[in-house]
Amino acid sequence: MAIVESPVYREVYYFLASAPSREQILAYRPSAITQERVDYLLVSSKNGQLSAEEEAELDEFEQVEHFVRMLKLHTRQLQKTMTYIPAELRHLVRERAQGRCEYCRVLDDDGFRAHEIDHIEAEKHGGMTTEDNLCFCCWICNRHKGTDLTSRDPQTGEITPLFNPRKDMWSDHFRLNGAQIEGITSIRRVKVRLLQMNKPARVREREILISLNRFS
Ligand SMILES: [Zn+2]
Repeated sequence: MAIVESPVYREVYYFLASAPSREQILAYRPSAITQERVDYLLVSSKNGQLSAEEEAELDEFEQVEHFVRMLKLHTRQLQKTMTYIPAELRHLVRERAQGRCEYCRVLDDDGFRAHEIDHIEAEKHGGMTTEDNLCFCCWICNRHKGTDLTSRDPQTGEITPLFNPRKDMWSDHFRLNGAQIEGITSIRRVKVRLLQMNKPARVREREILISLNRFS
């Protein structure tokens, strides 16, 4: 039977199309009808009574079994590496940021890969998954931010805490010089350097965004 017509594959497609949560994926089992069918085929198989068609059907169940096992294993891996952030909290963080990266100010709509929800104080340092420790940021800023809490000021050499979008107002502490972002204080200077906000490609993007009134 072709995969697209197969009842067991269809069952899995419908399940995945319902956008299950991770918990639902981990608890996923076949429907009662499918269970019964597999039981029947297995008994027939043991008794040497399988037709060629039934043999192929059983092979198909085996493929689905491997597929769902991999699905569950990948889900477990994700659970281990990423904290689950409820949809409402994600929505709140995005709305609060008005869809902009809270570091470089680029709009999510203007990006390629979607912006992310980031822990300001990293979880490995005890940061909580609460609205006052979350911010909305583009993946490039997130990548360069890493998990450090401090960095060295490029001008004074002093160890300085990083900019915190929940405590510090961007417009109070950064300024634009043309399309370059300048940090006014030590904290900001560190951040501009750490996040590499003035790399040529980013400055060029910013020039165009400014000319289109899409940077604020
Ligand atoms: Zn950014």
